[in-house]
Amino acid sequence: MAKSEGERRKFRAIKGTRDILPPDSALWNWFEKTARGVMESYNFGEIRTPIFEETELFARSIGVETDVVSKEMYTFEDRENIRVGYPQTWEELIKTNAAVMEAWKSGKIPRTPYNEIAIEQLQSAFQDIENVGTPGILRFLFELHNLDLGEKITLRPEATASVVRAYIEHGMHTRAGDQKLYYIGPMFRRERPQKGRYRQFYQIGAEVLGTSDAPAIDAELIQMLTDLLERCQIEKYTLLINSIGCAECRPKYVELLRAKLREPEIFSKLGADSQRRVETNPLRVMDSKLPEEQEIIEKLPKISEHLCAECKAHYEKLKRELALREVPFTESPRLVRGLDYYMRTTFEITSPILGAQNALCGGGRYDGLVEMLGGPKGIKGIGFALGEDRFIDAIVEAEKINATRTVDAFIAWMGERAYPMAVRLARVLRGEKHTVELPPEETKFRKALERADKMGARYVLIIGEDEIASDMLTIKRLADGKQEKISEEALVDYLRGAR
Ligand code: AMP
Repeated sequence: MAKSEGERRKFRAIKGTRDILPPDSALWNWFEKTARGVMESYNFGEIRTPIFEETELFARSIGVETDVVSKEMYTFEDRENIRVGYPQTWEELIKTNAAVMEAWKSGKIPRTPYNEIAIEQLQSAFQDIENVGTPGILRFLFELHNLDLGEKITLRPEATASVVRAYIEHGMHTRAGDQKLYYIGPMFRRERPQKGRYRQFYQIGAEVLGTSDAPAIDAELIQMLTDLLERCQIEKYTLLINSIGCAECRPKYVELLRAKLREPEIFSKLGADSQRRVETNPLRVMDSKLPEEQEIIEKLPKISEHLCAECKAHYEKLKRELALREVPFTESPRLVRGLDYYMRTTFEITSPILGAQNALCGGGRYDGLVEMLGGPKGIKGIGFALGEDRFIDAIVEAEKINATRTVDAFIAWMGERAYPMAVRLARVLRGEKHTVELPPEETKFRKALERADKMGARYVLIIGEDEIASDMLTIKRLADGKQEKISEEALVDYLRGAR
């Protein structure tokens, strides 16, 4: 490609990512403001964590066997320590080799078993160069670029791991009471994009961390979500709940399930993924979406029938707590999570107005996570994450919320003498929290009106020669064309009253 052509090439947003433009962004802002309002009314405080973390944090907390960790993470090396390019001359090559060995000795290159082998190979290649010439150089370069030069970091695929990391790092367990935290922000997963599924998507989530696992905590967290749905006037949704037991009762149930799934007449009807999961993680067979497996799954033993006394009591109490709050729910024995630290309550909210990607939100208890990530013993946790992209779709589908921004006043100024007054007025009105459009250049009256109309402005403030002469301005209401003269002083009150 010729250079000039390359320079002229148009860039596009990366697959699975998208731009959110005005006026659509107004609804996003409305939603975030509403969600903050609801969560703050439950006394949750915002936590902001970085969007990247050590890869290991996600691998440990989400689990290496999950699709998210094994296939979908955006991971890269954080190479701040040392740079290796492509040495061009023999001197550069010797210098590079010396620098690498220096960095290796000083520990700048991470001392992983992988790197030990890579360094060994690099040195053998280096010594070989004199004997074999070019192939030796190529091997040296290959080994050089094989080194893991930095820490592996990952764009967060979800935020619970980060919140728990921050909770531990800042010793938040020493603060009084349960920590009730919420976050808003982008998450990154390399999934196959489709409607409602993106590679950069937005989640709003909340976590409660503390020593109590009272079912009232779970119920209040869920109620917070149904409050939000109500504010968004999304009426068509289902709240699914389940209990997945604890370290005491779940393993016994898993064995029972595995034994059942191994029965030849059942096993033979499962798809390849589920067949594999019978051995690796039979719980996950329960949330399979394969149509031909549905009938079999319906008949499998349900975890709710195999809970220990404590888990059963917790679950029963949760249901009573939800009923007390008038939160309608549906029990779903198929709502499971495959990781050990998940305990008891799991829930999900789906909406039929969303199509294939119908999950608005998911959550559950993770009583073992804080300890697993090196935190204090006995800290329990529960949280949810909702998909903002999908909430927005649901709000749009429900057609109840109008979040468009309006321009309150368009200032049509004509003539140099009108301009200072226009600038002054814009400042005063903006100070009054009105949205004001001030054209940067003089515009003919008709054109100004047209533009104001297109923008959907409510009022046009007209400042021309006449107005300057009479020290008044003209205000025109676009809804009905009504127009009157008004003094600058009276205008502020007028627009206040017109809100
Ligand atoms: P998860 O963290 O997988 O439990 O997902 C929680 C919620 O985030 C889901 O119920 C979805 O609403 C949303 N979500 C998850 N993955 C995506 C994605 N790739 N694109 C858009 N929304 C997503």
